Amino acid sequence: MSGTDYVIALHGGAGTIARERIDASPFHAGLKAALDAGAGILEAGGSALDAVEAAVASLEDCPLFNAGRGAVYTADATHELDASIMEGTGLRAGAVAGIATARNPVCLARRVLERGGPILLAGEGARLFAQEEGMDGVPDGYFHSEHRLAQLRFIQAGGNRHAALDHSVHVTGPIADDRKFGTVGAVARDGQGRLAAAVSTGGMTNKRPGRIGDSPIVGAGIYANDRTCAVAATGTGEAFMRAVVAHDIHARMLYRGESLEEASETVVKSLLPALGGEGGLVAVDGAGRVAMPFSTRGMYRGVRRTGEPGWTAIF
Ligand code: ASP
Repeated sequence: MSGTDYVIALHGGAGTIARERIDASPFHAGLKAALDAGAGILEAGGSALDAVEAAVASLEDCPLFNAGRGAVYTADATHELDASIMEGTGLRAGAVAGIATARNPVCLARRVLERGGPILLAGEGARLFAQEEGMDGVPDGYFHSEHRLAQLRFIQAGGNRHAALDHSVHVTGPIADDRKFGTVGAVARDGQGRLAAAVSTGGMTNKRPGRIGDSPIVGAGIYANDRTCAVAATGTGEAFMRAVVAHDIHARMLYRGESLEEASETVVKSLLPALGGEGGLVAVDGAGRVAMPFSTRGMYRGVRRTGEPGWTAIF
């Protein structure tokens, strides 16, 4: 990879994805469309920050993933979406939590970043911010989906009072089990060597209203620093927060001299399981190396580099 080459890597969530039960092609198409959206910007000399925002917005618009349009339900059968974005040159970040009025939460998070004040806006304050920015125009019922509601009812009927990772909810019976979804995230290195990351999620199915996971928390579900890496995570949010996953990878690289691969494998495959956490992440370093470890059966993911068509994978 030369100094002016770019790379973008993304994920569409991790979980107990049953190989025999999914029709993989729409997922590959959704991932590819998002890679193309981000790579188009990088190809034209655009920034890593713009590229990850575009890639994640594309995944938010795709109902197959647990973010934006395809977001899962809370225990009260409502929606509370979280998103974040960060760039590694000036360490600027923006995040929103517990919102259901913005069509593309990642774009609202970007607006928070650009305003340069608070980094994380939640609930009513985030709703008002979206209104002020003219980004609250989501039609009624936009986030509703019968399949998602069935997923919630299925968990609740089983007496499960816990929240579940989207990809691990296996709805059986009349509901087709070929539609596993997931939190989305992207990381990129642009032609000028700048890094950025973005994450968006509906959270976990049956989560307690008001619960905020790792996705909008800088250092937990997301981090970017040009000195080391950019990271976008997915998985059981509480464990990711306790392990401060994204920042830990950065710190291991900076202070211990670990490689991107070594740091991210250790965190995902040793530290997180020790806390009862599961999931995965995508990460890129300043040299454009990519790591995509996961501890679940599968993780929807893809990579595209300068001059290459890119690839996507699930298992
Ligand atoms: N990390 C997300 C959360 O805990 C869930 C996911 O990645 O699917 O809200």
